[in-house]
Amino acid sequence: MELFDLSGKVAVVTGGNGGIGLAMAAGMAEAGAAILVAGRNAEKSAAAVDSLKALGADADRCETDVTHEDSCHALMRRAVDRFGGLDILVNNAGIAIRKRPEDYAASEWMQVLQANLTSAFICSQAAYAHMQARGGGKIINIGSMYSLFGAALSAPYAASKGGIVQLTKSLAAAWARENIQVNAVLPGWIDTALTRQARLDLPDLNDRVLARTPAGHWGDPDDHKGVAVFLASAASQFVTGASISVDGGYAISG
Ligand code: NDP
Repeated sequence: MELFDLSGKVAVVTGGNGGIGLAMAAGMAEAGAAILVAGRNAEKSAAAVDSLKALGADADRCETDVTHEDSCHALMRRAVDRFGGLDILVNNAGIAIRKRPEDYAASEWMQVLQANLTSAFICSQAAYAHMQARGGGKIINIGSMYSLFGAALSAPYAASKGGIVQLTKSLAAAWARENIQVNAVLPGWIDTALTRQARLDLPDLNDRVLARTPAGHWGDPDDHKGVAVFLASAASQFVTGASISVDGGYAISG
């Protein structure tokens, strides 16, 4: 058995049509996996599928809103119908709403928690029986540096990403005997659509990130290819409940 080989494996990536999700999808595609890209924006998803096919992968898309339970279940069924099973789930879809805590409407709090945390729970629930049917599986949840630190201007985001770490441990403990490994990736500051908006909203953000990151630069979505392949493959068979920072040292910097 090749440790990092994903040939014959089927992966669903929520938010797989751009940024970190697409890079993780590309890493797993290069390792041999078939990919089902899930997102709301059909145009972005179609372009993502084309880019994965250009790597030689079998890939398709499923229009999905992870804030709707039915949509999450339909997504996993689609993976099984289209590719014959489901082995890997990357819970990557996420949003941020930035403001001071006292200014959020309750509906905005719910919107962020629903998109970032509840969605990961519901998608994992929806994937569970399909992974059991394959004799095991891999779930990769996407946290953040705000899984570790407070965020004065993103309280619901930080709460959702802190929750991702505990959800990861809980699912890992519950499903370990069924050979389902559940781990989290905590990206540092990565140059994507999400953080480009943050840089516009917070003019000093760029300087603060560069000053605090030991590597001295922003991360690239492609920096997540390796960790995706590791956590999706046999190489991580005895790794479960872990949270792995991909942050150029941001989290360990004093
Ligand atoms: P992007 O904005 O590029 O990606 C977010 C993705 O989530 C999009 O593909 C979007 O697809 C999808 N999405 C959002 N809401 C929904 C929904 N309701 N249903 C389905 N898909 C949805 O940002 P990033 O790549 O930066 O973010 C990816 C993940 O990484 C997020 O969880 C984010 O919190 C996390 N992260 C990012 C960091 C960074 O520095 N960039 C740092 C730490 C964590 P569509 O537009 O089609 O809906």
